[in-house]
Amino acid sequence: MTALNRDFSTIKVDDGIVTVKGWIQDTRNLGGISFVQLRDRFGVLQITMPKKKIEENLFKTLTTLPRETVVAITGEVKESNQTANGLEIIPSAVEIYSEAATPLPMGVIDKVGVEMDTRLNNRFMDLRKPETRAIFELKSLMVRLIVECMEENGFTQVYTPKIVGSGAEGGATLFQIEYFGRPAYLAQSPQLYKQMLMSTGLDRVFELGPAFRAEKSNTNRHVTEFISFDGEFCWIKDQVEVMRMIETVIDYVLRGLAERGKKQLEILGKEIKIQERPYPILTYEQCLKIVNDAGLGLKDGDDLGTEGEKIVGEYMAKEGKDLYFISEYPEIAKPFYIMEKDGTPYSYSFDLDYKGQEISSGGQREHRFDKLVARIAKLGLNPDDFTFYTDAFKYGMPPHGGWGIGVDRLITKMLDLPNIREGILFPRDMSRLLP
Ligand code: ATP
Ligand code: MG
Repeated sequence: MTALNRDFSTIKVDDGIVTVKGWIQDTRNLGGISFVQLRDRFGVLQITMPKKKIEENLFKTLTTLPRETVVAITGEVKESNQTANGLEIIPSAVEIYSEAATPLPMGVIDKVGVEMDTRLNNRFMDLRKPETRAIFELKSLMVRLIVECMEENGFTQVYTPKIVGSGAEGGATLFQIEYFGRPAYLAQSPQLYKQMLMSTGLDRVFELGPAFRAEKSNTNRHVTEFISFDGEFCWIKDQVEVMRMIETVIDYVLRGLAERGKKQLEILGKEIKIQERPYPILTYEQCLKIVNDAGLGLKDGDDLGTEGEKIVGEYMAKEGKDLYFISEYPEIAKPFYIMEKDGTPYSYSFDLDYKGQEISSGGQREHRFDKLVARIAKLGLNPDDFTFYTDAFKYGMPPHGGWGIGVDRLITKMLDLPNIREGILFPRDMSRLLP
């Protein structure tokens, strides 16, 4: 009996007759003998056809089917010293499930470099390459590790609305939609909702879900839809506790990927570098000095910007650190929910940067109702638009803090991918809405 849909890596020389299903990756015809490379999710099997030993019609069919055609081939497993896995299959029957059209929109095994746009336009083909699939298998593992670690630390997984009545991260990147005759928006982050939960007794929550930003610039780290991993928890003493919590998760993810993602990392030729804890904390002011010493000329209060982040990244790389926090940003540059550092122009906020790029922002939140309302007004917003949120602060709100991490940025930096789009199956940006 042949098993259904055999994983190629499990096929053994003494299996006898097997049926294997997959894509015809390549065909080589040497006259007296022909070879088909059949690919499945796990690897490639060689189908060997000595012309004299194979029924004529079968030989003809198998040697003329276009690349990427999907078939089931039945045949006998034989030992081979010509193939990487030491096996070959001598076919006795073929069933064609779906014949591929020609020419292919892009090659699967061709070594010539294909433009990223061509790859993204034909993502279904691009994903047939093991090295492309490996990224998404690792991303799946990453999410599993995040969930494991959060559960171990007593966090409850929650789902907050993605259709919302107001934004949290600034008007410029809000996507407006029409909602039964009135305006609504796509959620930029779960920020306001996860904070409201802090008043309920669900005092440690996390969420993994999409976030939407109308990013009008075209960079290698911004898309308009990304997966955000948000956490929020109560009873914190200060923002350092929040940093230590993120660090716990990142460390768990790095170690888990290195251990459980070996196969995919090998396909990609990558290694995960694990950084000892605690991760360093630099203040915004220290970073200002680092970037100005490098000649950037920023004033106190300025955004470090892409260039500044890069310079700090290079500075930290020299100290052997890929991951570090930048804390106490100017309060004016941070959203209304961040707690100000009283008596200074700074705030209890931080970013986690990875190899010179922000991957997370977080901080201690303003949990005192009056101060929160004052801060909303100070940043030029109307507190009346936020009563649905501030009401949760009126009747007893514990001190709390949290973070948001871009999962796509995390995988991008971890694997040193040149563009965030490489780490998203079907990325969305200003110009890309299909496929
Ligand atoms: P940046 O300054 O890099 O645009 P941000 O400060 O606007 O990011 P936050 O509002 O702090 O972003 O969001 C938290 C995290 O979400 C970021 O650190 C990042 O990892 C991720 N993120 C934010 N915007 C995007 C985007 N457009 N595409 C991909 N990831 C994003
Ligand atoms: Mg940020």
